[in-house]
Amino acid sequence: MTDSSTGTVYLVGAGPGNPGLLTLRARELLRSVDAVLPDGLVSEEILALIDGPELIPVGKRYGSTSTTQAEIDTLVINLAHDGKSVCRLKGGDPMVFGRAGEEIRSLADAGITYEIVPGVTSATAAAAYAGIPLTLRGVTAGFVCVTGHRASADDSPDTDWAALATLNQTLVILMVATRIDPIAEALLDAGLAPTTPSAIVENASLPGQRTIISPIGDIAARSRVSGIRTPAVLIVGEAVAHSRNLQWVPIQPLAGQRVLLTTPPPATAELRSLLGAAGASVVALPTIQVEPLSDPTPLESVLKQIDDFSWAVFASRSGVDAVFRTLNELDLDARAFGGIQIAALGTGTARTLHTHGITPDLLPEKFVSESVVDALLQQLQHDDRVLVFSAVGGRTVIRDRLLEAGISVTRLNAYRTVLTPLPTDLLEYTLERPPDWVVFTSPSAVKSLFGALDRASISLPSTTRLACIGPITATTIEARGLTVSAIAEPHTYAGLVTALVNFSASGDNQSSESEPSSVQT
Ligand code: SAH
Repeated sequence: MTDSSTGTVYLVGAGPGNPGLLTLRARELLRSVDAVLPDGLVSEEILALIDGPELIPVGKRYGSTSTTQAEIDTLVINLAHDGKSVCRLKGGDPMVFGRAGEEIRSLADAGITYEIVPGVTSATAAAAYAGIPLTLRGVTAGFVCVTGHRASADDSPDTDWAALATLNQTLVILMVATRIDPIAEALLDAGLAPTTPSAIVENASLPGQRTIISPIGDIAARSRVSGIRTPAVLIVGEAVAHSRNLQWVPIQPLAGQRVLLTTPPPATAELRSLLGAAGASVVALPTIQVEPLSDPTPLESVLKQIDDFSWAVFASRSGVDAVFRTLNELDLDARAFGGIQIAALGTGTARTLHTHGITPDLLPEKFVSESVVDALLQQLQHDDRVLVFSAVGGRTVIRDRLLEAGISVTRLNAYRTVLTPLPTDLLEYTLERPPDWVVFTSPSAVKSLFGALDRASISLPSTTRLACIGPITATTIEARGLTVSAIAEPHTYAGLVTALVNFSASGDNQSSESEPSSVQT
C-alpha cells in the first residue's frame, strides 16, 4: 500500500511539441519532480526545458529503442518506491492514444498515488495550426479522432473505414505517416468522393511544421513527393476547404530546415531559440564540453593578485564563467576587477560580463582575436600589463601579437575544452534524418565531430551543408577538404542565423528534397 515514502507519479501531457502549449501544471512539474521519463514524441524543444530533474528517455529515441511498456511500468514503479516523484511525459494528451490506461492500471495495482495532467492533443492542435476548423456551422456537426495504425493485436478492433466514410464529419486520423496510401484507398473504396478536401499536418506547432492540402484522391501521392514523416495527422472533410482563409502560421525563412548544433549546452540554448524563431528545427549533438581546470592553483594565485595587471582580456563566455566561478570560490567578486580595464571578444562575452556586473571598456567591432589586438594596441601605454584569460590549448594570437609589440602580457588558462565521446549509435541516430545544416562555433567542435565520424566510418549526408561562426572555424573545416556554405557575419549567433537565412534566400539550396514548408493547395 502507499506510504509517505513512496513518490507520486504524474502522467503529463506535453502537447504537440511547441513549449508554449505546455500547461502551467506541466511546466511546474518539469521543474519540481525528481525524474522525467519522456516518450519519443516529446519534442527537443520541450526536453531542452528540463533542467534539474533526472532525464530518463524511454521512447523510441537514442539509447532506449528497446524499452517495452512492461519495462517502463517497472521503471516508474521502482522510482516511486525509491521515494522519487516521477513525471511520465507524453506527447499531446496522455489519454489520447497515449497508453495512459495501461500505465494507470499498473500504478493502481502497485498502490502508487498518481495525478493525470491533460495536454493539448495533436488531434486538435494540428487542425488549429493549419487553420482548419474541426467543426463549422453549416458544414460539419462534429469530428471523429481515430488511429491510422492497424490493430495491434488480433483481438482488438480495426478502424472501420467504411463506416467513417459515410459519417459526414471531419475525420482526424493520427499515426498515419506511413499509412496514408491504404487509408485513403479504404475511404475511397467505401464511397468517399475523391474530391473531398484533406490535409496532412506534419510537426504541428513545431518550427518544421508543413501542411499539405489536397483532395483525398491525390493526398497519398502528394505526401510521398513531399517526404512526409511521423509525426503527422491526416484530416479529411469539407471543413478542410475553409483553411484557405484561416491559415495563420507565418512562413518562416528557415521553415522545414533541420539544423544540427555541435555546440556545448549553454550556447545551444541561445542558438536553438534564435534558429527556432526563424522556423528551423534544431537537433543538438554537443561535441565539446567546458570543464574546470584539473589544477586551478595558477588561476587562483593570479586572481588573488589581480591588481598586478592593468588590463584583462576575456575571449569567450566560458572564460568569463570560469573566472567568476573561481573568484566566488575565493570569496571574491567583481570588485576584484575594480582598478582594471576589461576587453571582451564578442558581444556574447560582453553580455556574460554584464551578468557579473562588468561593462567592458573595450569591445572590438570584429570578433576575432586579431581585431582585439589592434583595438588594444591603440589604447595601451608602454607600462601596461595585460592578462589574457584562455582555454587550455586555445589560440595564442593575442599574447603573441602583444608580445611582438613589446607589451607585457600573461596568458592564463581559465578552463579547458574536452571533446565529448560520440559513440557510433548516437551518430547514426542523429543522422538518421539528414540535417540540412551542421553548425560549428569552434575549431574544437569540428575536430570532435569529424574525428568521431571518421572513427565510426560514417560520412555526413551529401545534402548536408556546413555553417560556422567565423573564419578560424571555417579554416579548420576547409582543411578537411570540405566546403563551408555559410559563415556568420558578424561573428555572432544572430549573424549565424542570418547567414543561414541569406543562403536559403539566395536560391542556392536546391539540394533539399522536401518541398518548401507552406500551405500547398
Ligand atoms: N497522445 C498524443 C497522440 C499519440 S499517438 C496526442 O494526444 O497528440 C502519436 C501520433 O500523434 C503521431 O503519429 C501523430 O499522428 C500525432 N502527433 C503527435 N504530435 C504531433 C505533431 N506535433 N504534429 C502532427 N502530429 C502529431
